[in-house]
Amino acid sequence: MAVPKRKTSPSRKGMRRAHDALSAANTAECPNCGEIKRPHHVCGSCGHYDGRNVLTKAA
Ligand SMILES: [Zn+2]
Repeated sequence: MAVPKRKTSPSRKGMRRAHDALSAANTAECPNCGEIKRPHHVCGSCGHYDGRNVLTKAA
């Protein structure tokens, strides 16, 4: 099995983890109800997509 020759230094570890940060998800405003939703996704609160209702809420 391949084994690292040297211990990873704190500096190297920090450089590797420099790209690990998470960024906030993109948001878009629903044109029907104004709720914040994910772009290109059905609105979770009113069920509209592309200007029409695509979900019928079960009673
Ligand atoms: Zn909506």
